[in-house]
Amino acid sequence: MNFDDTPEEARFRRKVRSWIEANAPKSLRAELENSSFGRMALQSIDPLRASKAWQKRKFAAGWACLHWPKEYGGRGATPIERVIWTQEEGIYALLSGLFVIGHGMCGPTLMAFAGEEQKRRFLPPLASGEEIWCQLFSEPAGGSDVAGLRTRAERDGDHWIINGQKIWTSGAHYSDYGILITRTDRNVPKHKGLTMFYIDMKSPGVEVKPIKQANGMQEFNEVFFTDLRIPDSQRLGAVGDGWNVSLTTLMNERMSIGAGVSTGFPELFEFCNSLMLEDGPAIEDRNVRSKLANWAVKASGLKYTSMRAISALSKGDRPGPENSIGKLVAGSMVQEVAMYALDLQGAAGALSGPEDAEIAGKFQAMLLRAPGTRVEGGTDEIMRNIIAERVLGLPGDIRVDKDVPFNKIPTKGRA
Ligand SMILES: Cc1cc2nc3c(=O)[nH]c(=O)nc-3n(C[C@H](O)[C@H](O)[C@H](O)COP(=O)(O)OP(=O)(O)OC[C@H]3O[C@@H](n4cnc5c(N)ncnc54)[C@H](O)[C@@H]3O)c2cc1C
Repeated sequence: MNFDDTPEEARFRRKVRSWIEANAPKSLRAELENSSFGRMALQSIDPLRASKAWQKRKFAAGWACLHWPKEYGGRGATPIERVIWTQEEGIYALLSGLFVIGHGMCGPTLMAFAGEEQKRRFLPPLASGEEIWCQLFSEPAGGSDVAGLRTRAERDGDHWIINGQKIWTSGAHYSDYGILITRTDRNVPKHKGLTMFYIDMKSPGVEVKPIKQANGMQEFNEVFFTDLRIPDSQRLGAVGDGWNVSLTTLMNERMSIGAGVSTGFPELFEFCNSLMLEDGPAIEDRNVRSKLANWAVKASGLKYTSMRAISALSKGDRPGPENSIGKLVAGSMVQEVAMYALDLQGAAGALSGPEDAEIAGKFQAMLLRAPGTRVEGGTDEIMRNIIAERVLGLPGDIRVDKDVPFNKIPTKGRA
């Protein structure tokens, strides 16, 4: 492992740094720095507008979707150049959150399975942030087991008619397009009867109902399809090959989520440095120090695991399923850290000034968002299965319905 930039990487870093210095929306910096995991603190401007403006500026200068080919709106950059960009973009990367699904999952899926004309039509506006995409996979009966989904697509000449329901669709309420996985054949085993499409979210027959979350936000939705009619040209991949297509999306999903996951440790450390407990500064308390030391070790482990992946990228290798470790460890860590910070606040007595309330809000937001991280893009248990099977080579999970035709799988409701 070598953490130093090669001479070319150092040159690239200087170029990125000077462009960001000259072009980043500095007027938003203070507000962005006040944001934390689970809480976007932008008040002076609509976050959607600010995100689209920053994305458009990056796109115009060739800094959007760095690893995509130039003809589709990217820069044709190497994976390590992309990492360098993210490191240098720093706090302004918070403005890219709305595009993670489109850029990290839908884009690569279109690139692999759409026709050339469609790629040229859809990828550049996706890269520039002009059009936002969402991922319509999970259903009430198909989350970890996406292949258990029931949304039906039935052929009608050159068209398909779609009926059913998706759930937990992040950003569906502001998305222009989405990739949608459906069941097209109930007579074959569940993984074999699926077909993928892309749809216009504003089409008649698509109804988006936001879900209100515990933290007061509305980031994901239920999406209902009632006789949605789409042309066959909106199919991605072959009829019945939707599972393979979805694997491209899911692989990219785990890479995107795993890469950017937060631990909450820097925030906790800063907080303990300024907090006064009844018998003195928190940072001098033996129990606090012992907890901090434990999390410092975990945070370092995560940092060096991600550096191992970066080092592999730098050498032209592809990081493997070990990437699941980052999401698994950081997901539960951020939850424990936020709970501990709230306990400490309790131990420090009632909150008084607005500054204390601001800090309390930060950890409350973190605590309420943390369970979502442990579920999105694969739950902790699914991550453990991946690590067990593909990293440690242990025997596979038992999948009793793998070869049973979908319409023969016992179910309480109607399939
Ligand atoms: C913040 C957030 C954003 C999301 N965004 C999207 C989105 O944009 N698009 C989208 O399609 N979906 C989205 N999802 C849905 C997400 O993909 C699913 O919630 C997730 O895959 C789990 O599925 P489920 O909720 O149906 O839980 P289930 O699959 O029903 O799981 C229930 C429990 O059973 C356990 N379990 C399931 N299978 C196994 C197994 N084989 N071995 C051991 N334990 C198992 C799980 O770990 C879990 O604890 C989002 C979810 C969250 C939290």
